[in-house]
Amino acid sequence: MKVLVTGGCGYIGSHTVVDLLNDGYEVIIVDNLSNSKIEVLDKIKKITGKSVTFYQYDLCDKEKLESVFAKEKIDAVIHFAGLKAVGESVQKPLMYYENNLFSTINLLEMMQKYKVYKIVFSSSATVYGSPKSLPIKEDFPLSTTNPYGTTKLMIENILTDLYKADNSFDITILRYFNPIGAHKSGLLGEDPNGIPNNLMPYIVKVATGDLPILSIFGDDYDTEDGTGVRDYIHVCDLSYGHVLALKNPQNGLKIYNLGTGKGTSVLELVTMFEKVNNVKVNRQIAKRREGDIASCYASNEKAHKELGFTCKYTLEDMCKDSYNYVKKNTNL
Ligand code: NAD
Ligand code: UDP
Repeated sequence: MKVLVTGGCGYIGSHTVVDLLNDGYEVIIVDNLSNSKIEVLDKIKKITGKSVTFYQYDLCDKEKLESVFAKEKIDAVIHFAGLKAVGESVQKPLMYYENNLFSTINLLEMMQKYKVYKIVFSSSATVYGSPKSLPIKEDFPLSTTNPYGTTKLMIENILTDLYKADNSFDITILRYFNPIGAHKSGLLGEDPNGIPNNLMPYIVKVATGDLPILSIFGDDYDTEDGTGVRDYIHVCDLSYGHVLALKNPQNGLKIYNLGTGKGTSVLELVTMFEKVNNVKVNRQIAKRREGDIASCYASNEKAHKELGFTCKYTLEDMCKDSYNYVKKNTNL
């Protein structure tokens, strides 16, 4: 089976490509490398012993995208490509709407034209806005607070309308909670440009001395220790969820949360990181970050029941693997 992986050089995409190759799938990657590096392809080969077909194309370029569909006999698509920085999306909304929506519409048009009906789409827990209760279930009301989140919700709506109009499509929407960690080889991981927005990349940079101090955004939330609670999931558990979604024999439009089902506070994560890596993370309490919610964690029962999704990795693994990746790639 030949799978087109858009954004396959990125953080989650590259880990998923490894799983696909290990499971015997043929993989074609389309990625414009706007947020990833070409060396990822060699690293994937080093891990799996297998090669992928790669096109450095922008999905917004419909002609180039069509040339891929015309040349390759694609059976299914996993659609990771997109811009993902919440803060940047607030500053540059048009760039986010243009990139994330045009690329997806082009992709879906090509899929329909070339009769490729199976797609797995990367959505996000951000579409739940501020949840009324926890854990979050897939049928909870949806709302967004920033342009990035709105692109995810708009794409979910586009996919829903497309399925209504043409139910040859077989669509799986995966709503990710907070992916962290890295491949245990230390070859693949998260490598954000500039100052990170997300907690784990920031912790790692403080631990390595690249940044002086972690600001903990608020210690007065209604949570056990007052700091924000999230559902951190190892990227390798998350990536395997995509393989399970491809294998799911049930056709239709399906939506699943991919999370561990367990909430962890900022303080708990920092403390665990220090303990397992035997390193100090300087920190200070700062004011709340605008737009943040107190707590967010998934019910993953539906994914467990229908896809056989389970999480193998612990919070310790996530902390170890995140640090290992950065140490290996900065020669510490
Ligand atoms: P990433 O930035 O590492 O990977 C995305 C890849 O898509 C990059 O390699 C980038 O070069 C490519 N890309 C972007 N626009 C493109 C375009 N127009 N044409 C071709 N390639 C393009 O991000 P990631 O963390 O791997 O996330 C993958 C997907 O999962 C994204 O859609 C993201 O919104 C979603 N998601 C991520 C998280 C997270 O915390 N990482 C959480 C929820 C959802
Ligand atoms: N956070 C923090 N300091 C940082 C970055 C994040 O205290 O430098 C907190 C943030 O307030 C939230 C949690 O860590 O409670 C996870 O934030 P992240 O941006 O990683 O994920 P998201 O908020 O998008 O779920």
